Amino acid sequence: MVTDLIQIRRLGEKKQGENERFRRHLKRHNFPELRFRRVAEEMESNIDCRACANCCKVAETDVTKRDVARLARYLGLTPDQFVDQYTTSSAFEQKEPILRRRDTGCIFLEGNDCSIYEARPDTCRDFPHLIRGAGSFESRMWQMVDRATYCPIVYNSLEEFKELVKFK
Ligand code: SF4
Ligand code: SF4
Repeated sequence: MVTDLIQIRRLGEKKQGENERFRRHLKRHNFPELRFRRVAEEMESNIDCRACANCCKVAETDVTKRDVARLARYLGLTPDQFVDQYTTSSAFEQKEPILRRRDTGCIFLEGNDCSIYEARPDTCRDFPHLIRGAGSFESRMWQMVDRATYCPIVYNSLEEFKELVKFK
């Protein structure tokens, strides 16, 4: 299992083509999802997200209306105040606003800790969306090729998935 973030980036980028082929391979075959879920669960339990926090450092975090309401309540703000102070538009013109960022990552990241952990957005709760998330497992695999370049859970899970189905 690789957890060093420099290595994850190097290997994830090197394997982007292979992972893209693997994603298409999964789409063509109807493998039972449960086997992948077990691998990803095992990987999640073996990797310490608090020692990593790389997704909070590199990925954009979109916030839904429900997130805004919960976070505003948590911080003692109105939803409009929360949106003004803590969100911005995504460079990718997604519909949802995203959390503001600093050079070090998400505005709520302090060291490797989330300062709003109990009220964090749903997408943070479900990240990296291998086991949980919107849509089917197959549809979520679209984002895994990129996530394998910065998330140890995703990189290592994809490697095990490939072994599981004997992907060459
Ligand atoms: S809200 Fe918390 S968990 Fe979500 S990206 Fe920001 S620091 Fe990370
Ligand atoms: S979800 Fe992935 S990138 Fe985020 S903290 Fe956990 S291992 Fe690191």
